[in-house]
Amino acid sequence: MRYLSTRGHPDRKRFCEILLEGLAPDGGLYLPEHYPQVDAATLARWRQLPYAELAFEILSLYIDDIPAADLQALCAKTYTREVFGTEAIVPLRPLEDGVFLEALSNGPTLAFKDMAMQLLGNLFEYELGRRGEELNILGATSGDTGSAAEYAMRGKKGVRVFMTSPYGRMSPFQQAQMFSLQDANIHNLAVDGVFDDCQDIVKAVSNDLAFKRQYRIGTVNSINWARLLAQVVYYFAGYFQATKAEGEHVSFTVPSGNFGNICAGHVARMMGLPIAKLVVATNENDVLDEFFRTGVYRVRGSADTHETSSPSMDISKASNFERFVFDLLGRDGARTAALFGAGLAQTGRFDLSADPLFAQAATRFGFASGKSTHADRLATIRDTWARFNQMIDTHTADGLKVAREQLSAGVPMVVLETALPIKFAETIVEALGRAPERPAKFDGIENLPRRVQRVPADADVIKRYIAEHCA
Ligand SMILES: *Cc1c(COP(=O)(O)O)cnc(C)c1O
Repeated sequence: MRYLSTRGHPDRKRFCEILLEGLAPDGGLYLPEHYPQVDAATLARWRQLPYAELAFEILSLYIDDIPAADLQALCAKTYTREVFGTEAIVPLRPLEDGVFLEALSNGPTLAFKDMAMQLLGNLFEYELGRRGEELNILGATSGDTGSAAEYAMRGKKGVRVFMTSPYGRMSPFQQAQMFSLQDANIHNLAVDGVFDDCQDIVKAVSNDLAFKRQYRIGTVNSINWARLLAQVVYYFAGYFQATKAEGEHVSFTVPSGNFGNICAGHVARMMGLPIAKLVVATNENDVLDEFFRTGVYRVRGSADTHETSSPSMDISKASNFERFVFDLLGRDGARTAALFGAGLAQTGRFDLSADPLFAQAATRFGFASGKSTHADRLATIRDTWARFNQMIDTHTADGLKVAREQLSAGVPMVVLETALPIKFAETIVEALGRAPERPAKFDGIENLPRRVQRVPADADVIKRYIAEHCA
């Protein structure tokens, strides 16, 4: 399998070449040259497999530069009951007739990002070891991504993590999760500023090409193809649990921000997994819902980006969306480049409403969408608790609210549970008047010693810190 850029660059690369890279040289995102097709006989065979074996089967269709035995070992080491809490790894829980929650949040940091990041940690360690190289991951987080990255990379050989976060602005639980890590290769940098300041620092450091090369700076953001590929696996696992035999269809609803999670669903559907609908659920930041309703994609300014009670979906633009648009436009790299390159930078929007291809987003690719607000979130959390005695987090509540608007008779609807309620306790208390349960392994983490460096919002200070800690 070779990988190409969504913006038409002529290079074709192999998996391990793009593993440690971010954007393609022309600013596009990497996608496989084609989607391997899976027939009913293969699905029937995969249905019997434990999760780690299923992951190995799917990954081997896309990775041909890691020996099969090594890839199998990496999958077996990643997807264990010890790390994810159950044998099923992503168990399905029934709600009302035909509606299920797929639990993706039982990994080390209690959000679905662990599903991909845990694999990425093992892939990075493997590939860096093979090359005899090191990597310094620099990131910015407002919560879920940073902790998932740190728990995936802690103690890994050849990798250091420098994670910036806005001082005092993450939830107390999220701060405790990250700052209690004592591993020598994990560096928490609490920046005097807001999340945007952290992102600006990461950009400034990455734009200093000499520094970037000298200190081997890399990232783990959601545009990484390996993260997306790891997420494809749980669409198959969800399908097998919601159906009895091949040929039956299932729909998925996905709480969405950067379009990473649901883009993996799109890949699974393109491979031939019988998915009826892929439903995009947004919060008040409805960039994606607007596109799927109207054909207009409109990037929001910072004044137009709302701080909500499902904060991991508070986005101004959807960084993975270009991958889907590339497929929607018949894989026309020049046209994708025109829409997402200079055009978007200038006007902040594009409009496909008059293009006959836009209708295919629903008809050919199965997409639908909806939006949820703070009031919807509270109502859904209350209703789910009252009727089913199940406590769900705010992001999952957005998904469930939208899923119920998109049900079709006879087609199971699987809603992806993207975090556990303990991560967003304040809103749970607002909805239910009681605090969420806390998994035993997190008892008392607020009282553990903390390892965090407070720094000014100054890229030069961060660079000095990195240089001093790279010896
Ligand atoms: C990251 C995140 C999302 C959004 O996922 P995307 O891949 O950006 O669409 C939703 N819910 C939670 C809890 C998250 O951490």
